[in-house]
Amino acid sequence: MINQFLHNDTIAAVATAAGTGAIAVIRLSGPEAISITNSVFKGKDLTQQASHTIHFGTLRDGDKIIDEVLISLFVAPHSYTKENVVEISCHGSDFIVQQIMQLLLKKGARLANAGEFTKRAFLNGQFDLAQAEAVADLIASDSALSHEVAMKQMRGGFSQEIKRLRAELVHFASMIELELDFGEEDVEFADRDQLRSLILNIQQIIRELLKSFELGNVIKNGVPTVIVGKPNAGKSTLLNKLLNEEKAIVSDVPGTTRDFIEDEINIGGITFRFIDTAGLRETTDKVEAIGVERTMQKLSQSSLIIYLFDITGTTPEELEAELEKLNPKKLPFLPVANKIDQATPDQLAAFAGMAGLVQISAAEGARLEELKQALVNKVNLGKLNTQQQTIVTNLRHVDSLNKTYEALDDVLNGLGLGMSGDLVAADIRRALYSLGMITGEITTDDLLDNIFTKFCIGK
Ligand code: GDP
Repeated sequence: MINQFLHNDTIAAVATAAGTGAIAVIRLSGPEAISITNSVFKGKDLTQQASHTIHFGTLRDGDKIIDEVLISLFVAPHSYTKENVVEISCHGSDFIVQQIMQLLLKKGARLANAGEFTKRAFLNGQFDLAQAEAVADLIASDSALSHEVAMKQMRGGFSQEIKRLRAELVHFASMIELELDFGEEDVEFADRDQLRSLILNIQQIIRELLKSFELGNVIKNGVPTVIVGKPNAGKSTLLNKLLNEEKAIVSDVPGTTRDFIEDEINIGGITFRFIDTAGLRETTDKVEAIGVERTMQKLSQSSLIIYLFDITGTTPEELEAELEKLNPKKLPFLPVANKIDQATPDQLAAFAGMAGLVQISAAEGARLEELKQALVNKVNLGKLNTQQQTIVTNLRHVDSLNKTYEALDDVLNGLGLGMSGDLVAADIRRALYSLGMITGEITTDDLLDNIFTKFCIGK
């Protein structure tokens, strides 16, 4: 009999998170997945059951019952990995889970490596590499937008775009290579003008994809946001309120918030990665001086700056001067007046007409919704139609797209210089290679290891 399986060993792993839960799921994949499970299961003969059926019974180590379980069967090739897959739903105790895992290993399964189920799914042709990577993104997604983009990539949106570009180039490469077969007879199967316009078209699409990464990165990794302002402006208080827990040090002593505390909040589907900073006052205190320097450094790493000031101790002129000083790179900047609970009517009035200014009380949590709305508006994702547009979120894809673009530049140059067909064809092949790396038509072991070891075990 021909071995229909690419892998001849059977892997097992706990698919649910550690800790006590109502249930836990253990997953097996490989040629012996069903027979190994059957050897410790009392109930129906699992080897005789149809795919996509669920069976109740007990798992036993000899005579000892370990748990009452439900077994889900997926018979090859109708499973995630395209191999035989069994999912054991047991009671969610770490002890039970460990007992069952040990039993399965004793019966011949091997502990799966990180991402090994998904790697097998990829190698068995379930989906391409970009889709496999999206599975990891989906598991890691923590906002509406990151979820939406990962879901779209997993369902093949991005892959289709890349494959379409690739197919057109493949056509030209083979036409040019056909010309080479005719040697001296000066034939041209591949219309050079058509090739040139195809390449310009592809380059245009690549530029758009690369541009989308700016956004894709924000969606996937959050908007690095920094809160700056003078000591005692209320930065720690604000961050605490926003994070809803005591993570920043709130203190009455100016300049005591010396270290950076990074945390994330999710507003309107967007993740904001907050970076709390030491006070921005000019100081001779050594520790604080480091803080100021690092604040400037953090400013340069952030994409959005909240400038918080105490409305009870600041004039509009002083604010203008501060903003001038702080925003050399003209990043999105949100001035926020704090402590309105203590402000006099005159103080409030002085800032009332200032465009784009938000007034809050961090301590009382007043008008924080307005602040949140202003943050979302600053990021300006509202204009984005994530349904329509393909968004690149992966640095590896960016790298491959850049390499493709460069190779296509070389093709264009070659065509311009009237270079011979074999040289042009070689540059097209180089572009195809880089494009193929994205979807995994071209892979190396290192590449696969790099991608799949970042997955969790059991996925
Ligand atoms: P930071 O140095 O900018 O981080 O300022 P803190 O968050 O440590 O706040 C300095 C002081 O101002 C603390 O005593 C806070 O309780 C107080 N504070 C912060 N926000 C407000 C506010 O909205 N109203 C009032 N009245 N006090 C506030």
